[in-house]
Amino acid sequence: MDQELKIYNTLTRQKEVFTALHPPYVGMYSCGPTVYNEVHLGNLRTFTTFDTVYRYLTHLGFKVRYVRNITDAGHLTDDADEGEDKIEKRARLEKLEPMEIVQKYTNSFHEVCTIFNVTPPSIEPTATGHIVEQIQMVKRILENGYAYEVNGSVYFDVKKFMEKHDYGKLSGRNVDDLLEVTRELSGTSDKKNSFDFALWIKTPADALQKWESPWGEGCPGWHLECSAMGTKYLGKQFDIHGGGFDLKFPHHECEIAQSVGADGIEPVRYWMHSNMLTVNGTKMSKSLGNSFLPKELFSGNHPMLEKAYSPMAVRFFMLQSHYRSTLDFSNVALQAAEKGFARLLNTYKWLAEMEYKAGTAVAAEVKEVNQLCEEIYTRINDDFNTAEAIAVLFDMSKKINSYKEGVLEIGSIDEASFIRLKKTFTDFFSDILGLAKEESHDNSVTDGLMNLILELRKESRDKKDWPTSDKIRETLTKLNIQVKDGKEGTSWNLG
Ligand SMILES: [Zn+2]
Repeated sequence: MDQELKIYNTLTRQKEVFTALHPPYVGMYSCGPTVYNEVHLGNLRTFTTFDTVYRYLTHLGFKVRYVRNITDAGHLTDDADEGEDKIEKRARLEKLEPMEIVQKYTNSFHEVCTIFNVTPPSIEPTATGHIVEQIQMVKRILENGYAYEVNGSVYFDVKKFMEKHDYGKLSGRNVDDLLEVTRELSGTSDKKNSFDFALWIKTPADALQKWESPWGEGCPGWHLECSAMGTKYLGKQFDIHGGGFDLKFPHHECEIAQSVGADGIEPVRYWMHSNMLTVNGTKMSKSLGNSFLPKELFSGNHPMLEKAYSPMAVRFFMLQSHYRSTLDFSNVALQAAEKGFARLLNTYKWLAEMEYKAGTAVAAEVKEVNQLCEEIYTRINDDFNTAEAIAVLFDMSKKINSYKEGVLEIGSIDEASFIRLKKTFTDFFSDILGLAKEESHDNSVTDGLMNLILELRKESRDKKDWPTSDKIRETLTKLNIQVKDGKEGTSWNLG
């Protein structure tokens, strides 16, 4: 196969052919969560997007070092330089140590990632674990004249930076825009200009998290950790940096300025951003009551959800949209995705057991199958277009079904083509899109409970206790469990 991977680079606003800086190695960074509450669905979409990028690059044979950080300090409530530290605020609220908050929500985040089949990164560094590196970076920026210290805080001097460099190129903002989006300086602000941003923040005397620095006790600015940790683990310049759309400005714009200000090098070659989520066409927000957590989606325990959805069906649903398009959640769309996913999952299972039987190969059939195997790579190579790759998986599934049902002889293709079809389908479904999750836990408990429920169902039917048997059936349907009565007894399966 001779195909090129193209990536839409936010920086240049065009699709570019991907080349690694030091092949076969690829350095990739994606901004992780601020662990002060449960990870929300929007975050999860971002993590799923970059998980898929990571999986595909690995599939192509690259040795990817994937860094995804945990923000456990320095992220203030206004996402800039004002307000309280989000972790501290939560710690005061829950009457816990900041590190207890961090541990609690880091654990919860990892749990959601596992449920969702999001691969752990190669390195998951924390801001508080890299205070030294951050202080060093502030020093380098100060030495190069792109920052200034006032009253124990250090700010990045955006105006000075703009004399030689382009600030705003990633988000497409100019100075006038910057003046508009950054609020008026309050009388107490130490900044020279409203669009300057904090590298180091002097903390109040009663702060729960603070560190010694050459400028006194304080904490690092939020943008700094990603620059410092990206540089430490991936080098001064690396291949891919990802995050949600909302991080383009100020977070990623500031990252570029910090790295160029400290080390004089553009830090990232390909900037990738994944788009937002909406619910029934409106923005997801807590105040509208349409914001649900991943765990609620899997339990069905939210007023807006008609039922529980399996994690893999939700992952599939997310991947059915291209990562740069908005993704709209609705029960109708989720249920449609659920059906589609079940079809592909069945094909995946059959394929594992399907055996080739030689017959009379038909040239047109052979050609069609090989074209599908080529086509799916063309789609994914077009800026990770998982939506179109999945459409090809459905075409493959149709083909495979016709072999299974005897509509077509499996021998109408040669063995090499069959092996290629099987491998391509399996690689995409399982390894690249991450849709086949090994059931590693709780099977015995689930099986035991299901046997008990099916026994109770049989007893109630034998006794003609219809209300009970109906109740069991309805509940199982709600949980997406399908029960089949056959000659050899009753069997069940999920979805
Ligand atoms: Zn970041």
